[in-house]
Amino acid sequence: MLDPAVRDYLETHRAAHLDRLIELLRIPGIANRRDDACDRAARWLADALGTLGFRANILPTPTKPAVLAEGPAVPDAPTVLIYGHYDVQPPEPLELWHTDPFQPVVRDGWIYARGADDDKGQLFTHLMAVEAFVRSGKGLPLNVKFFIEGEEEIGSPSADAFLTEHGARLAADACVISDSAFFAAGLPSLTCALRGLAYVELTVTGPSADLHSGLLGGLVANPVNALAAMVAAMHRPDGRVAIPGFYDDVEPVGEAERAAWSELPFDEAACAQSLGLDVLAGGEKHLPALERNWARPTLDCNGIVGGYTGEGSKTIIPARASAKISMRLVARQDPQKIVAGFRRFVDENTPPGLRASVEVHAASPAVQVDPDSPAVAAARNALAEAFGRPPVLIRCGASVPATEVIQRRLGLHAVLMGFGLPEDNLHSPNERFALSQLYGGSIASAAFLQNLAAR
Ligand SMILES: [Zn+2]
Repeated sequence: MLDPAVRDYLETHRAAHLDRLIELLRIPGIANRRDDACDRAARWLADALGTLGFRANILPTPTKPAVLAEGPAVPDAPTVLIYGHYDVQPPEPLELWHTDPFQPVVRDGWIYARGADDDKGQLFTHLMAVEAFVRSGKGLPLNVKFFIEGEEEIGSPSADAFLTEHGARLAADACVISDSAFFAAGLPSLTCALRGLAYVELTVTGPSADLHSGLLGGLVANPVNALAAMVAAMHRPDGRVAIPGFYDDVEPVGEAERAAWSELPFDEAACAQSLGLDVLAGGEKHLPALERNWARPTLDCNGIVGGYTGEGSKTIIPARASAKISMRLVARQDPQKIVAGFRRFVDENTPPGLRASVEVHAASPAVQVDPDSPAVAAARNALAEAFGRPPVLIRCGASVPATEVIQRRLGLHAVLMGFGLPEDNLHSPNERFALSQLYGGSIASAAFLQNLAAR
């Protein structure tokens, strides 16, 4: 049970905390803009942590600064690293917002602003929790560090180099990230796996220039025809990826996990409809939707270019064609091995008279959190205490770059304890965060810190 003095502090300071969050939300830090808003957001956070007794620094990166902070030393206690980001998605199109994205408005139990959920609101739950320990006189129960970056929304380009340089300062026993959501309102959730990514660009080249398709048609192999055939050959009719070895290291989903997922309130028809589709038909046809999305690797062609695409006709055999292809990977799949298998497949399927090359744009492994780790147990109990029911364990089909970098550079499996709701309009107009999630999140964060300290 969370210390009553800490809980009481959080419950009696809700209005003051909301005012502080509104201050932070007024600072429009967007990573790919050249103004000083990100510097101001970083300064605000460093000052906020500084007044709570943290040693907080703003450290430059090639893009936007990061905030590193360490709380007062608590001898013989473990250390937790809290990661978050202060940058937000651009708010455009502005005309679709009911109120100004950077003039937060509280309405019907929600706070509306860009960043209200992603990630300022979620990050702020941890500042509230830390403040409650410090100001209630209890003191922090363990060593707390913050790593708050300002370029998450552009893919965390500096995180790898930054964590390499500052890894020693960020050493910890556990890490928590609140930048995700409940599976549904009223259903607290812990995300236990994220998929990895191998991103390749396949280029097929033929003649040295576009040729006359009449004079030379029937003599010269066509790169666009060949590329289209190669991309088509990457899947079998049952939806499985046809590249040999693609599934070699994939672990089947256990019966217990599959049964738990089938209990989740996932309405396939409604999901399809919300996407403008009749049916969710991607992936391996014999498997349930959530399993295809969370636990199976996939291959998708993201775009193809080649030949003449202008108005009217132009009768050519094109000189080249290329395709961009993303492969989402699951635990135990080695991105390098997957890319090697892709190259072999391309070599074996390139027709005579043409050449193919593969350029690799990204290769990062999946992230899997051990559901039996002490940190996950601390989070489970904290969510149950704060929200009145134990969390469900879910996965996420996407990749979160910082999570993978924290795992690789710091050796930490982050606990993904998010407080958002699916209806928070992330990256969209009218982003919002439920006040009940903000307050519940602060209790959960405080309980998490206390539970972790007790282990
Ligand atoms: Zn985020």
